[in-house]
Amino acid sequence: MGNSILIVEDEEKISRFLELELKHEGYLVDKAANGRDGLEKAMTGKFDLMVLDVMLPELNGFEVLRRIRKSENQVIGMMPIIMLTARDAVMDKVAGLDGGADDYMTKPFAIEELLARIRLALKKREVSSAKEKSSIIECKGLTMDLKRYEVRYNGDTIELTHREFEILKVLLENKNIVVTRDTLLEKACGYDYMGETNVIDVYVRYLRSKLDDVYNVKWIQTVRGVGYVIKEDN
Ligand code: CA
Repeated sequence: MGNSILIVEDEEKISRFLELELKHEGYLVDKAANGRDGLEKAMTGKFDLMVLDVMLPELNGFEVLRRIRKSENQVIGMMPIIMLTARDAVMDKVAGLDGGADDYMTKPFAIEELLARIRLALKKREVSSAKEKSSIIECKGLTMDLKRYEVRYNGDTIELTHREFEILKVLLENKNIVVTRDTLLEKACGYDYMGETNVIDVYVRYLRSKLDDVYNVKWIQTVRGVGYVIKEDN
């Protein structure tokens, strides 16, 4: 049986077009025309992926995204989400990715590109769910439970956004190895966002403000002009 995709889009023309294209590709498709209905449908947990417009009546796409990512049901909380927007501002992109969107498309977009990103997001989810079977990664007392999606230090649970979590995960999985910004972008964001590697610096800054600065432990080290590394001992 094909994967189920939920389309949340208030523009009937786009929504109808997406439905036809996705069905043609063998996906099962359901639609919602506003944020509230979209959220309600997403919370049933029967979808493998969601295509979510940003500008929506009732609840906007960012708010829908935020509520889904906060879900205690992990299957729902980690559902791949591809955001759609008519706007093209970098801040929107960062806000979407920071809120835990897996990918981002600016309208108008080529359907082939969206289909490729959907395939990629679904594949990535399969790979990560296989990986999450066991793993807890640790460094200098900082533990990352990939299965429970939790980061802890000294009994504290550290709240990270989806994207911060993914970046920390790549760094911890490559302990003692310098990871380039490009690799971080590719591994934590799924593919190359047109070379916008400075986005990585922004996330690393957020991570440090939640980890290194709070606990006065140096986890993330900058390797100038290259990238970042987490070392077992400094
Ligand atoms: Ca819209």
